[in-house]
Amino acid sequence: MERHTNPAPDVPKWSALLVEAVNKPGLIMKAYSAFHHYSIGNQLLAMIQCQLRGLEPGPINTFPGWQALGRCVKRGERALILCMPITRKSRDEEASANTDEANGEHTYTAFVHKPRWFVITQTTGDEFAPPRMPEWDADRALAALDIEQITFTDTDGNCQGYARKRQIAINPVAQLPHKTLFHEAAHVILGHTTEADFTDTERTPKNLREVEAEAVAMLCCEALNLEGAEYCRGYIQNWLCPALGYNGDAIPEKSAQKILRSADQILRAGRLQPEQDEQGE
Ligand SMILES: [Zn+2]
Repeated sequence: MERHTNPAPDVPKWSALLVEAVNKPGLIMKAYSAFHHYSIGNQLLAMIQCQLRGLEPGPINTFPGWQALGRCVKRGERALILCMPITRKSRDEEASANTDEANGEHTYTAFVHKPRWFVITQTTGDEFAPPRMPEWDADRALAALDIEQITFTDTDGNCQGYARKRQIAINPVAQLPHKTLFHEAAHVILGHTTEADFTDTERTPKNLREVEAEAVAMLCCEALNLEGAEYCRGYIQNWLCPALGYNGDAIPEKSAQKILRSADQILRAGRLQPEQDEQGE
């Protein structure tokens, strides 16, 4: 079970961060190359704070984390705020997902925002070589996500790909095969394919599920510097602004969380380097 606490008033909502990423080409690419050990949501949070404070984006760590690397946080530097999961125990009378546990005690994951991280330029000390950008492999990602790529059999020439349960198919002549792969994999991870089958044509209605899948594809394309982010961006912007001006509220906060988490899962699943977890404490 997960509970999201309301972030501090000066911390932007996930939907606001996502709209920022949609409207600022290059933001995700920069955030991913600087902060790829962190979740996409935290990458965006870190990036926005760096921009607001005029800090050069780069490796980040906690105070003790930098100490362990032989570096010291400079006097007077303010920590960046990131979101971190913590496991909590609670005993309450409310019905909950895990009440089957004995004596009514159960654990849940809460997400809290804490000011604990510093960019390398806020520190001094031993030289530090930033970790290399991990490479990403589609086959590895699909295997890790338990998604099977099957042969494309649709006869509709407009169809770019489709997703059925945990299977996806990509049209061999799709315009941007990796973008379609991200989009269809997103439908699976977002849970859409347990609701209905998906065949994506140029005429697919612009409903929220399509925007969710397309936003995941945009985040993945841009993080990995693959062609297609612009196409996704145009689609989402069209949906966000039916008339004039962008409406950040058009993406529900819950959808924004799902989008960021799904993109994160796809990116982590395909990494060729051993997984390095987000440094929490
Ligand atoms: Zn779709």
